[in-house]
Amino acid sequence: MAEQSEEEKLACLQKGKDLFNLKCDFVLSVAKLKQLPGDDLVEIAFAGRSNVGKSSLINALFGQKKLAKTSSTPGRTQQLNYFNLANKLYIVDLPGYGFAKAPKEVVRNWQNLINTYLVGRASLRRVFLLIDSRHGIKKIDEEIMYMLDKAAGTYQIVLTKIDKISAKELEKVLNETDEKISKHTAAYITVLKTSSEKNLYLDELKAEVANLL
Ligand code: GDP
Repeated sequence: MAEQSEEEKLACLQKGKDLFNLKCDFVLSVAKLKQLPGDDLVEIAFAGRSNVGKSSLINALFGQKKLAKTSSTPGRTQQLNYFNLANKLYIVDLPGYGFAKAPKEVVRNWQNLINTYLVGRASLRRVFLLIDSRHGIKKIDEEIMYMLDKAAGTYQIVLTKIDKISAKELEKVLNETDEKISKHTAAYITVLKTSSEKNLYLDELKAEVANLL
């Protein structure tokens, strides 16, 4: 693909900002796939291990504090939470994985739910897989990446909490991440980075989403 000019980049960033300025509403939580809403809207999903900063990121993207509930909220965390962005896009907050000492059955149920969702959801355009920039891609994330590779859609890595590391550490984790994703067939080549706390690079992520419409 040809390099974007500065002007095109700015236009993309603006498109993303405009999209995320629109009204976003919580629609429903889905525990069983037969409860999924119709697939008439394009859909993107956010995934990541518990505590990666997923709810904070969704809230930061919309400049709202309480749109997505943090993992400390009981109930909604083992479900797929659907948000409707101005009837243009569904944003799906997938349940976090990697719960320490979870019973095998809980993990298996999670895998079944997510796998069936990923394979069967025709309107899903991209999964954004969140990785804590302090830790990089861990074994459990790799397992999810293999699952995503098999499910056939595209996924893109987003490094979170970059305000917590130095520029040098960030460069290192970006290089390591690039190397790891080169082994994954369905991983999108560009790695994004964000800080919800300091509102860093959120516009780049918004632009990436807007480009999928
Ligand atoms: P979730 O389980 O993935 O939804 O994670 P949360 O959004 O609940 O975040 C987990 C913890 O990380 C909370 O204490 C957040 O305040 C913190 N956190 C999330 N994003 C950031 C960030 O960008 N920077 C910093 N410093 N902390 C963050």
